[in-house]
Amino acid sequence: MRRGSISLGQIKCDDCQGIIPHPERYLAIEKEDGTTERLCVDCALKRGCAHYKMERGELVLTFMEEEVGQKGEAKGEEQEAEKKEATGEEEE
Ligand SMILES: [Zn+2]
Repeated sequence: MRRGSISLGQIKCDDCQGIIPHPERYLAIEKEDGTTERLCVDCALKRGCAHYKMERGELVLTFMEEEVGQKGEAKGEEQEAEKKEATGEEEE
């Protein structure tokens, strides 16, 4: 599972071995064997685990987090349908 975190100052990148200073963000990757790999922003970008996206005119770093259970809200459009029942009763 991948998770974006903020460094507290003692985080070392497992790829380039560089220190990730506070308040830089890093990517924590929990592996199947229980260990956690930490990647600095540069390495996460190189691996394709992070990308920049434009948000309100600014480039924002986004980690490709693996979250399960997030659903986009479905918009239900209410359509007002008027039913006109024409009952023509003709009596003679
Ligand atoms: Zn790195």
